[in-house]
Amino acid sequence: MKPQPCILCHSNDTHITQEIARDDIIALYKSFPGVAIDSLISSDLLYHHCNVCDLSFFTCKDGSIPTGDNAFYNALNQLDWYYFSEKHEYHFAKKFIAKDSKVLEVGCGKAAFARFLPQEAKPHYVGLEFSTQAKQMAAKDGILIENISIEEYANSHSKQFDVACSFQVLEHVSNPHTFLQSQIDCLQRDILTGGGGDK
Ligand SMILES: [Zn+2]
Repeated sequence: MKPQPCILCHSNDTHITQEIARDDIIALYKSFPGVAIDSLISSDLLYHHCNVCDLSFFTCKDGSIPTGDNAFYNALNQLDWYYFSEKHEYHFAKKFIAKDSKVLEVGCGKAAFARFLPQEAKPHYVGLEFSTQAKQMAAKDGILIENISIEEYANSHSKQFDVACSFQVLEHVSNPHTFLQSQIDCLQRDILTGGGGDK
């Protein structure tokens, strides 16, 4: 069997550490009301480890990466425990955000981070999230969420933000390499080169 290239560093030096039956995962998710994943995974899952960058990641047997869709995240939205209203990382990230900083949060869930920021920061915030319900809920509070991938968003929003952040999202994406690069592309050049003025 051909080695699975690492989804982060693209090395072929990876090995399979575990195989997980599709039926087992589907059965486990069924214990959460309304969360069905039958259409999201096409086969048993393989758990790979990259010997170069140490990342572990899942694929289906055809090499595709199983990820959630709108229906999946809408269903998770109904579970109170899935999206926390506050994470300790929020306090750390807040230190990098001035009142007028343009903030992009990728995978923002119900925009809990936007609500955590001072009121005057809200107009400068954009969250990306696949859940259409999350977008509707946030809009009621004047918070902008776009239902679009960061890769697509970056195509038309290059160098428009001062801060790009994600909280507990990286492990959910199919391509962490382009996920991070696209966030960097959205940042202003002068911030990246250390010339961020009084920020
Ligand atoms: Zn790697």
